[in-house]
Amino acid sequence: MLQSPLLKSTHGYIDGQWCAADSQKTMPVINPATGETIAIVPVMGRSETTRAVDAAAKTLAIPASIQQRQQWLGKLADLITEHRTELGRIITHEHGKPLAEAQGEADYAASFFRYYAGVVDHLKPKPLTDRPRNHSWTVYYRPAGVVALITPWNFPLAMLAKKFSAALAADCCSVVKPSSKTPLSMVALFSLIEQIGLPPGKANLVLGPAGEISDVLCEHPAVRVISFTGSTPVGKKLIADTAPHLKRLALELGGNAPFIVFGDADVDRAVDQLMSNKFRGAGQTCVCANRVYVQKSIVDMFAEKLAARVNALQVGNGMDDGVTMGPLIDRKAVEKVKRHVDDAIARGARSIANSMLAPTMLNTSSFFPPTVLRGVTAEMECVNDETFGPLAPIIEFESEAEVVDAANRTEYGLAAYVFTTNADRAARVIPQLSFGHVGYNTGSGPTAEAPFGGMKHSGFGREGGLEGLHDFIETQTVPRP
Ligand code: NAP
Repeated sequence: MLQSPLLKSTHGYIDGQWCAADSQKTMPVINPATGETIAIVPVMGRSETTRAVDAAAKTLAIPASIQQRQQWLGKLADLITEHRTELGRIITHEHGKPLAEAQGEADYAASFFRYYAGVVDHLKPKPLTDRPRNHSWTVYYRPAGVVALITPWNFPLAMLAKKFSAALAADCCSVVKPSSKTPLSMVALFSLIEQIGLPPGKANLVLGPAGEISDVLCEHPAVRVISFTGSTPVGKKLIADTAPHLKRLALELGGNAPFIVFGDADVDRAVDQLMSNKFRGAGQTCVCANRVYVQKSIVDMFAEKLAARVNALQVGNGMDDGVTMGPLIDRKAVEKVKRHVDDAIARGARSIANSMLAPTMLNTSSFFPPTVLRGVTAEMECVNDETFGPLAPIIEFESEAEVVDAANRTEYGLAAYVFTTNADRAARVIPQLSFGHVGYNTGSGPTAEAPFGGMKHSGFGREGGLEGLHDFIETQTVPRP
């Protein structure tokens, strides 16, 4: 079992108390690198979730000043930074990513609390400078209410930090439901939240698979907002499940990012950026390149450089020194990547990089070798579906118009990347790409300061930036003569 000063309890947290499931039911947390059980956590359901929402609703009646919220946010940012090593260790054990990457995730999480501590002042009441109808008007930014925050396993700490920081800045009361594959990072975060002095009920944690938990979150009248990060099918289900209850939804869903490299690009830079963009988290990130479009004039050089870098990746247990890529989250994830590779090869693609795995990794079965394919074409599964794994499929293109059309030929619209040294070309291409985030000569993903979110089936709403507050506030106008 994983021992940690941040995991003194591995229970849920409701109304300021750590608690087990009413049914005493539990589930194991598995380390994907070893297959070992590292903790046992409760399986909560309808009764615990209802209690959590009721506690949050009760606390909503006690408003916190802007200064108070600023202090909470700043304190939590400092605590996360102080405990970054331990938080990283917990993330690595339950997710599998290399320790340095996991500690980077803790820093990234802290940056959201720090950012919102710095901008929460924007939520002060604003008097209008105009006097319509000869009245003076004030705009108030009220908390939207009890908010349900549902997160995936791929960034077990950061995905919640984005939501919870903005919700707390807006003075909402939260009910948090992390993925049942990675609950420990959230338990650890709540052990820090406990230290910042929030009133009981301000932040609640329910653990277990979605089922009954999400039923209550969708149906309970006190829940006004559901902020969800996860797959597009579950996002669509939430739209259907909440429709009769008219709740506000913020949906951060799946992606199918094109990574476009024009013939005039700095090839070394493009390869370098692709390596960190694509293989971080073993390719299990919503923003990572899913389709690598390379112009014909440079494709041989690009592919050769990329293959050399991929073959040099060190695959293994994220806790071991020198490891640069960990396992996938589970066997099902491995099978999906394998299916995409097999489908592409059956249709004529060829593998040009595919590191060998040590026999111990094959036994654990959550590992997949980082792979580069050439000769990939539009009809292959890996082009049309989010692989969510360490596969870089290279697709050749000839013209600008052709690649813009191909890049947009997906229902997703989360992230895209464009590499070119021609500023006129960039200015032409970027506005034509239907993606919420377009990296220009960079593979960099989101940051706390910039609003991030999807178009089309990648969802709606934005996280980060001042826009990240919008989902958690109700704007109220008060005119008076
Ligand atoms: P997922 O299967 O959709 O699960 C995400 C969360 O939703 C988990 O907490 C899960 O709980 C819960 N859930 C499952 N079924 C639900 C339901 N019917 N109602 C309510 N909640 C439900 O996604 P995942 O496999 O964890 O994450 C991978 C996906 O997330 C990828 O598609 C990726 O692109 C996307 N993602 C998007 C962003 C973004 O910013 N747009 C960021 C990260 C990841 P249990 O698993 O415990 O049942």
